[in-house]
Amino acid sequence: MLVDVSELTKTPGGEEVRKGTVALSADDLALAELRTVEPAEVRIRLRNVGGTIIVEGSASTRAVVPCARCGTEFPLSVEASWETTYRRGPEGTAGTVETGEDGQTEWTFFEGNEIDITPDVVQALSLALPMKPLCRPDCRGLCPVCGQNLNERSCSCETQTVDPRWAALQEFARKTKGV
Ligand SMILES: [Zn+2]
Ligand SMILES: [Zn+2]
Repeated sequence: MLVDVSELTKTPGGEEVRKGTVALSADDLALAELRTVEPAEVRIRLRNVGGTIIVEGSASTRAVVPCARCGTEFPLSVEASWETTYRRGPEGTAGTVETGEDGQTEWTFFEGNEIDITPDVVQALSLALPMKPLCRPDCRGLCPVCGQNLNERSCSCETQTVDPRWAALQEFARKTKGV
């Protein structure tokens, strides 16, 4: 998503709000199991502060992912926000990040009159994705013995009712009681 800042760069203290969409792919979001992903809805606020352009953005998308426990595909909503400071840089520096002498201030260069905010959208949404997406917080997963999806129905395998956290304790109790 390219944002024209030709007016804003001429207006110290100026502010603009833009909306748009950014097409995403599963590769973009570095989540291999991602099935489909909708274009991100993006809203940004740009401010000209002392010649730098500060972009505050928020983005949201929906993707279909397999649950990390039971494998069932489900729609996942992802929202993210970020802030990036931009400065106009010399030719060939667009997208380069530079750190100031204080070691903390960071800015990203743009060239000409356009800022490409797509990399920020992709990065912010990637970071907001859960490492292990769950179809529901209490997903019961699959039976390790027969593979039954335990959210749908239970099976009669030995292990089904034993929470792994309790298994060791039960084993201990069995031994100490000599049962
Ligand atoms: Zn699940
Ligand atoms: Zn089973």
